Formats: sequence, structure tokens, C-alpha cells
Amino acid sequence: MVIAGGGPTGLMLAAELRLADVDVVIVERRADQFLDSSRSGGLLSRTLEVLDQRGVAERFIAAGQVFSMYGFGGMPFDVSDLPSRHSYVLALPQSTFEPMFADWVLGELGVPIIRQRAVTGFTQDPIGADVALSDGTSLRAGYLVGCDGGRSVVRKAAGIDFVGVDASTSWMIAEMETDEDPLLGMHHDDVGMHAMNRAGADGPVRVVITERELTLGDNPSIDDLRNALVGVWGTDFGLRRANWISRFTDATRQATTYRTGRVLLAGDAAHVHPPHGGQGMGTGLQDAVNLGWKLAQVVKQISPDGLLDTYHAERHPVAARVLANTMAQGLFNRGDARHQALRASLADLVTIDEVRWRLYAMLSALDIRYDLGGEHPLIGRRMPDLDLQTPDGPTRVFTLLHAATPLLLNLGAPGGFDIAPWSDRVRLVNAEYDGAWELPVIGAIDAPAAALIRPDGYVAWAGDLDHASLPVALTEWFGPAR
Ligand SMILES: Cc1cc2nc3c(=O)[nH]c(=O)nc-3n(C[C@H](O)[C@H](O)[C@H](O)COP(=O)(O)OP(=O)(O)OC[C@H]3O[C@@H](n4cnc5c(N)ncnc54)[C@H](O)[C@@H]3O)c2cc1C
Repeated sequence: MVIAGGGPTGLMLAAELRLADVDVVIVERRADQFLDSSRSGGLLSRTLEVLDQRGVAERFIAAGQVFSMYGFGGMPFDVSDLPSRHSYVLALPQSTFEPMFADWVLGELGVPIIRQRAVTGFTQDPIGADVALSDGTSLRAGYLVGCDGGRSVVRKAAGIDFVGVDASTSWMIAEMETDEDPLLGMHHDDVGMHAMNRAGADGPVRVVITERELTLGDNPSIDDLRNALVGVWGTDFGLRRANWISRFTDATRQATTYRTGRVLLAGDAAHVHPPHGGQGMGTGLQDAVNLGWKLAQVVKQISPDGLLDTYHAERHPVAARVLANTMAQGLFNRGDARHQALRASLADLVTIDEVRWRLYAMLSALDIRYDLGGEHPLIGRRMPDLDLQTPDGPTRVFTLLHAATPLLLNLGAPGGFDIAPWSDRVRLVNAEYDGAWELPVIGAIDAPAAALIRPDGYVAWAGDLDHASLPVALTEWFGPAR
């Protein structure tokens, strides 16, 4: 398996494949994991849960800062009371997260990476792909996954359309040092929203400026930054130096398909959108966790190739919704009287609990429901991290998912189902749980007698162990009885 791109998505996918004992290599054009701009500001609840499912959340939580407030369209509200162990926002710049994440994937899990080489194209046949590299060599792989960012070479070489909405607004973003005290906080004017904050107590100042004219190009100069500061605040605050300056836009695009034959796309390669609501990195990490176990099962011939089509079916709608909500949030950035009125209306609405719960569950991906059929409200939704009692002692559901293997959790009397025909792939755990069952946005649900949990933490089946639908679900998701 070859993964093009060792950003957050490519690293996560490699980890999932490695945990499943699949031979995988990352090709990454960067020499190291260093990022020369800020990018993602942190992690939201479902992404933290996904990392918790692999036993690595704590190290990131310890390195970041926990906040109980978040916002939609810049409208702040409390997010601390949703039913999740991680009902908060973790501020952790991507420039800190990525090297730590790489330490786990490349260092601890030992995934090989070919650095300072780019994927330049590929050809594919019915049993694999030949991946061309920038040094003139090539790699043969059963599957190639493009995790190579918004300008994905893999996507372009595959001829997959990237459809959506062109940029209408651009923002300059920089980390700077100034001789005078900056005006920290948000500033609205007729152009839109601008903001300055300090990275750490005495750290450099981060600034985001909505540009008066749409401007394209990644590399604004220090004079561009100076002019933009003067345009908004009337002064450059004695700008001394900029550690980095970058620009982003509200261009919003999604790949029309996430798969063509032996080639798949994940993360920014499959979807780009403005950073409103901080959902980009988490969406890519969750694409990878959805795809990883499926690819592993197909490569090991546990499941037919068609299992990979569920990746597009499940993840394309998720990113489409992220794109839609970031476009909506972009409107709240605008500074004219009509949009100010819109902001005031929203400010009122987010004081209603159901509204803020629904907005945060959407932004944080806690409310995802894959359309897997079935009656029980758990099916297609994330399995909550219940505190369980097992014959081996107390544990949590997420701890049982650390190995990234399927789990049949029996919460009724032990026995009642013979797992032997699937026991080489699915682990049966008998456990007791006497707490509440509550899902984000949905609220209280009836406790199922048993749940079949996929390696990505989503429930494939829930019900009574003696129901005829259980062997059907086991076969559908984890291969036939052996
Ligand atoms: C200004 C800004 C603010 C953001 N804020 C947030 C936020 O608050 N929260 C959030 O969740 N997300 C945010 N994002 C989005 C987030 O940065 C991306 O969604 C995330 O980095 C996507 O990860 P990825 O691995 O899919 O792609 P990338 O991070 O783009 O990684 C792609 C990797 O592929 C490599 N590569 C590219 N082409 C090739 C090639 N041909 N061959 C080999 N390697 C290649 C690149 O070097 C890179 O390492 C922000 C982005 C920007 C620009």
C-alpha cells in the first residue's frame, strides 16, 4: 500500500494499516514534519475520541489547552455538557500536533516513510497501481491513497473532478513581532472580521485580516502585511518582523468520487473549505479511520473489494456537510449591516441549549450517522465510551478498541452466541454496564443487549444476540463464517 502525503491524514491512515499488519509506506515531499504556518488551531470532540480509541489522546491533551467555549460563525457558546468524555475543544496548533503525531506513527508504530520525494503520477491495472516518484523511480502497490492535500497530484492524475465554489474572499494570516502593543481581540468593520491574539503569555502575535479585495497566492510579503494592518487598524503597530505570513480563501471544493479502481482520496485531497469552525484536520483524520480497516480487510481478502465503496458512501456526505456549514459560517464574517443583523439573530439562538448542542455536535462530528440501515438508534452512530465491568476487571469501550479490531460487546448474560466462526477477526467481550445511555443531540436511548462495533468505533449492528441479523451483519462487515 502506498500513501501519497504524510500530513495528518496520511499519517493516520498509515497508523490504521500498520495496526492491521498491512504493508504500507508513505511518500512525503517534505524533509520533516515542520510546518511554516499555523493551519489547524486544535482538535474537536470526535477527533479526540478517535485518538482515544487508539490510546493516544492523553499526550495531545497534555500538550494543549482545554476550552469549554466554541462558536459557530464566530458566535461563542458553551460546549462542555455534551455526552462525551471529551466535551471540550483542545487548542493545539497543527505545527505542534503534527510532529507529535508523527512520533507515534513513524516512531512508535514504525511506519516507513520516503521523504523528499513526491508522487508525480500513477498508472493502474485491475490488481494494483504503479506509482511514479519525483526521482524517476516507481513503487508497485495494491492500492494508492492520495492524502496529498488540496492540490492533490493523485486526484488530478486520476482525473477526478474537484467541484464546488470559487473563492470570494481571502484572508491574510501571520505571526508577527511588533514594537507597540497590539490591539488583541476581534475587530469588525465594513470589510469583515479581523482578529489578533498572542501565542502564549509573551509570545508573538497572530493576526488574521479579511482582505478588502480577493487576492490569490500563498506568499504575501511583509509590505503586504504592513499595508493590511494599516488598512484595518490605521497603524502597523511598529511591525518588526513576521515569523510567517500566509493566505487562505473560502474556496470550497469536493472530489466527485473518493475512489477510482485501486486509487482512493482522503483528507484535503478529497475536500477543501475555509477554516471556519476548525473542521478540516479532524475530517481528514476521520476519513483515514473510516478507510483504514476497510482497506486492510480487502488487502487480506477478508472482505470483497466492494467494501471500499462504503468509504465514499459514508464519508462523502460527511464532508459535503462540512463544506456547507463552512460556507454558511463565512457569511457571519461579513461586516455590512445585513450580516450584522444575521449575527445578532444567531447570538440569540445559541442561548438555547438544543441549538448549541446541535451546532457543536455538527462541528465536532459527534452527531455523524452513517446510513447502515437497522432499527436501533445506535446503528451507524459512534459507540459511546461506556465504563464497563468485565471478567478481567473494569475497562472502557475505547480501551477495547485500541487494537483497531472489530468488537462484539455483549452486555447481557454471557453465552447465547457462538463467535467461533468469526473469532479470528472479531473479539467477543462480555461486560456489564449499568449507567445511562445518552447520545449527542439524540438524548437518552434504550440500552441494546449487544453491539457490534467496527474498528472505527461506529456501531454496525445492535440488538439481541440470538437475532438472525447478527450473523448477517458479521458476514457483511467482517467476512463470512470460517
Ligand atoms: C489557515 C488555515 C487554518 C486552518 N485551520 C484549521 C482548524 O482550525 N482546524 C482544522 O481542523 N483544520 C484547519 N485547517 C485545515 C488543516 O490544516 C487541513 O485540513 C489538514 O492539514 C489536512 O491534512 P491532510 O493530511 O489531508 O493534508 P495536508 O496537511 O495538506 O498534508 C498533505 C501532505 O502531502 C504532502 N504532499 C503534497 N503533495 C505531495 C506529493 N505529490 N507527493 C508526496 N507528498 C505530497 C505535503 O507535503 C503534506 O505533508 C486549516 C488550514 C489552513 C490553511
